[in-house]
Amino acid sequence: MSKINLMGLTLDQMQAALLALGENRYRGRQLFKWLYQARQHDFDRMTDLSRELRRQLAERYTVEGLTMVRKQRSKDGTEKFLFRLADRHPIETVLIPDRDRRTVCVSSQAGCALACKFCATGTMGLLRDLTVGEIVGQLVFLRQMYGDDSFGHVVFMGMGEPLNNYENLLESLRIMTSSQGLAIPARRITVSTSGITPKIKKLAESGLKVRLAVSLHAATQVKRLKIMPVADTFKLTKLMEAVRYYTEVTNQPVTFEYIVMAGFNDTMADIKALGRLVGGIPCKINLLAYNPVPGLPFKRPADEVVDWFGRELNPRVMAVTVRQSRGRDIEAACGQLAARSLT
Ligand code: SF4
Repeated sequence: MSKINLMGLTLDQMQAALLALGENRYRGRQLFKWLYQARQHDFDRMTDLSRELRRQLAERYTVEGLTMVRKQRSKDGTEKFLFRLADRHPIETVLIPDRDRRTVCVSSQAGCALACKFCATGTMGLLRDLTVGEIVGQLVFLRQMYGDDSFGHVVFMGMGEPLNNYENLLESLRIMTSSQGLAIPARRITVSTSGITPKIKKLAESGLKVRLAVSLHAATQVKRLKIMPVADTFKLTKLMEAVRYYTEVTNQPVTFEYIVMAGFNDTMADIKALGRLVGGIPCKINLLAYNPVPGLPFKRPADEVVDWFGRELNPRVMAVTVRQSRGRDIEAACGQLAARSLT
């Protein structure tokens, strides 16, 4: 009988597993804390569980984390981790230090089906959804390596569209936000989506109150469709309705990500359209210069163009920030994750 991997089980699931062994529910809570807080994978070292229970656990269960095959460090301190999953698919996780905070950028799928025209991951197609254990495993791995303070913020901006792996995303978020699990405050977790409208509404109603970011990159339906095929299914007007709904239900502002691409979305007409589009929505716009991906036609704008874009946009919206690309020398920047070495 093959053993069941406990990594990725929620508190409820662990309690049910312990009940099935004839134990009290609170044993499930102890096990949950051992796994995610103490990051202890060896049953023998779970010293507040009886010897007999530890034996039974070891007989039926295992705790398998992720296998790292490479780590790269950028000149700016950004680190990129390449993991090989049990079925050999590659995924990447990026740890980004920025002044007094460290943010981890996690993957939610191996590859991605959405084929955004500017994105390296999009060229891979979807290999598969990540399991709950593989999503939280990225965070557990970093805490094992660097301790409790290894990161304070989590963004779902790595490989994949998190809302297309919705159930696993939700369970991961429950483990991440549980005070007995990874204990990461929901306000420090950002789920970034290319605009899966119905799931934005579901996430709003989930009660999880995580931050929402939307990859916009173009301010009209016609232009967005040129770079994001997903816009054909989920039209811009419906997307903005869903975003507005998210802000109302969660009482939180959203972030719009806008990658500035030279000669594509960097004109005054784009600025005006963007200002009109987000008008009345509590939001911040993050501008980011495009990082060229070999083989893809989009170009990086001059830094002055991005600064000008931000200055002109500023009076038309609630807040604008110009984000610096991080880890460009190790291809860890937004849209560059492709884990080519294992494909
Ligand atoms: S930008 Fe995001 S949603 Fe689009 S193809 Fe890349 S990973 Fe998928």
